[in-house]
Amino acid sequence: MNPAPSDRPAVLPLLQVVSPAAEAEQLDGALAADPPLEPSESFLAELAADSERLEAATPQAILKYAVDRFAPRFTMATAFGPEGMTLIHMLAEFAPRTPIFNLDTGYQFPETLELRERVKRRYGIEIEMKQPDTTVAEYEALHGGPVYKTDPNRCCFDRKLRVLRTAARGMYAWASAIRRDQSDDRKRAAIVGWDHKFQLVKISPLANWTKKEVWNLITQHDIPYNPLHDRGYPSVGCWPCTRSVQIGEDERAGRWSGFAKTECGLHTS
Ligand code: SF4
Repeated sequence: MNPAPSDRPAVLPLLQVVSPAAEAEQLDGALAADPPLEPSESFLAELAADSERLEAATPQAILKYAVDRFAPRFTMATAFGPEGMTLIHMLAEFAPRTPIFNLDTGYQFPETLELRERVKRRYGIEIEMKQPDTTVAEYEALHGGPVYKTDPNRCCFDRKLRVLRTAARGMYAWASAIRRDQSDDRKRAAIVGWDHKFQLVKISPLANWTKKEVWNLITQHDIPYNPLHDRGYPSVGCWPCTRSVQIGEDERAGRWSGFAKTECGLHTS
């Protein structure tokens, strides 16, 4: 069932871009859907009830709910991590036409980009690569050098968050592959919830899964995965902001090492 027309607003105001700080604020009011969904009280209550009901459901059942309820305005973003690969595997079984995209910052590892081809060969699914307005060379020239070195929040905002906002335009819901046990930020992730930042319903089918469950599924079904995981990189992001981790380190310790930053901003409220 798609959201009732009464759950959709006629128009929400777009804000003017005035400064980096103001731009960051604006994502809180960004229009992702066209026409956008309105987080009315009744709609939010419905999502909360669905989330509660799906707490003990399998990731497959949660994805089926998402497809039944929101397709064709249901999409998924993937960075080709192990969790994302398991969701792609599941979607390939019952909803292979779900649009899936990657935020192609221009800084991804070749091994990550190669996974796109492996997904295509294995499942016949073409992951759409969504790029920022500027190439890496243009972006760095514009800012007098690599922004990830001085202001990674700015860099993630420009090369990921802005791109997601555009990529998800026209959609009502998106799936993320986060797990609650990955970090403190992710602990509170709802199975189904309202994503204030992108003004979309956010669905997290793997919220209750563990790393072990993800890897069990990958092994059982020979799901393609990034070879960097076998070389000490449990979490793979852009190459300038990812290092391998030592035994005993947190699985996300290799991301933005040396900065207080732990998330790119896609999954923080
Ligand atoms: S992860 Fe690093 S290189 Fe990638 S967008 Fe964020 S700051 Fe930039």
